[in-house]
Amino acid sequence: MGRRRRQKTRRRPPKRIPDVYSCPDCGNTAIKIDLYRDNEMAIVKCGSCGLEMTITDVNALTEPVDIYGSFIDRYYGERKP
Ligand SMILES: [Zn+2]
Repeated sequence: MGRRRRQKTRRRPPKRIPDVYSCPDCGNTAIKIDLYRDNEMAIVKCGSCGLEMTITDVNALTEPVDIYGSFIDRYYGERKP
């Protein structure tokens, strides 16, 4: 009896968290986060409108998404009257 063996060799690529985020100012997904754990800081910069912010509450466990959260908080915090 012929037994066909179907080999599925398709591997799912590991899901990568995109390192670009949407900009609260211009609305484009152009925010890039440069994380400098050694210096305990991060620079958030929008490649579209040029909005830039330095985040200094960085530690060894800080992930870019946390930086983005701090950035958003600060962005809207500063706008509050
Ligand atoms: Zn922008």
